[in-house]
Amino acid sequence: MREIQKPIFAANWKLNHGPTKAREFMRSFLASYDAAGDRTVAFFPSALAVAAVAEALSSRPDVLVGVQNIATQPSGAFTGENSAAIAADAGAKLVLVGHSERRHVFGETDEDTAKKCALAVLHGLTPVLCVGETLEQREAGETEAVVLRQLSAGLGALDDDQAAASLIAYEPVWAIGTGRTATPADASAIHGVLRSALRERLGDRAADVAILYGGSVNRDNVKTLLAAGDVDGVLVGGASLDADGWSAIVRA
Ligand code: PGA
Repeated sequence: MREIQKPIFAANWKLNHGPTKAREFMRSFLASYDAAGDRTVAFFPSALAVAAVAEALSSRPDVLVGVQNIATQPSGAFTGENSAAIAADAGAKLVLVGHSERRHVFGETDEDTAKKCALAVLHGLTPVLCVGETLEQREAGETEAVVLRQLSAGLGALDDDQAAASLIAYEPVWAIGTGRTATPADASAIHGVLRSALRERLGDRAADVAILYGGSVNRDNVKTLLAAGDVDGVLVGGASLDADGWSAIVRA
């Protein structure tokens, strides 16, 4: 895989866009987005649309596709699940692990995120470990403790090389899909906390780990968020669903 170049613009389509819509989107997006060596664009479609997106990207190594989730098990009798190996076979290069909707809607635990990160790297997928506090945790002054716990648990089963090659996404739960974005200063402060924890574990290599911000990112706020210290990219939900809007974001 081409080395992931910062800044990173990641589109999380959640439960939207099947293969037909994904193909249309990619046709329109790729026609207006020239291969760029100074940034990386990544799509996280529904697992059922990953192969369609991978095919559309066959001549665009600067644009990557990933899955939104994988099972905690490598294979077996787990009806409805998708494994790391199957995701890789379908063309995925990356996987979101521990997205807040997985944690808070589907009850995913820190232990699950550790297993998923380990399975991801075993099958050649780059994990994008998502961390973030709820509004309640923020108001109780627990933000740092929560994200540090999620970070160390999620990367807990990886060796240092694997941890250094992973991506992190800080997504405050109260900012996701709400139109309420963290200020660039707030995002930068938490990214700094995460970077320090990575430095304790990885030394100088912590500087290479990309830390993405997510939560109500749009074409109007993306530039200022990316300009904030320690913000190496963005993970975008709602504003990534329309090809024209997404094209504007990736040109920030
Ligand atoms: P949002 O979602 O951009 O719609 O807030 C971000 C995410 O959940 O990754």
